[in-house]
Amino acid sequence: MGFKSNARKRREQSTGPEGKKKSEEEFVGQVKCDVSGCGNWADKKVGGRKLAFDRAADVWGESGLNRDSRRITVCKSCYRTWKKAKKDEPTEWS
Ligand SMILES: [Zn+2]
Repeated sequence: MGFKSNARKRREQSTGPEGKKKSEEEFVGQVKCDVSGCGNWADKKVGGRKLAFDRAADVWGESGLNRDSRRITVCKSCYRTWKKAKKDEPTEWS
């Protein structure tokens, strides 16, 4: 009992008023993820990757991408999603 209430107290102190603390959210980048509905930063600093539009469209579809250029930028988590979806294909960079 005592241990549990102590742990809760400590967590309340370390989190901000939003109740959620993630260092990635505090980062203010310059490049946004091009996957529509994502909105994460896709700067190199935070693990953003560039993908050929066609290869990204294989996973999200053309309407699932915000940008219609030959290369799009995705955030770290979208890149992971993409990699997972593409795991059947050999990767050139691993
Ligand atoms: Zn993303």
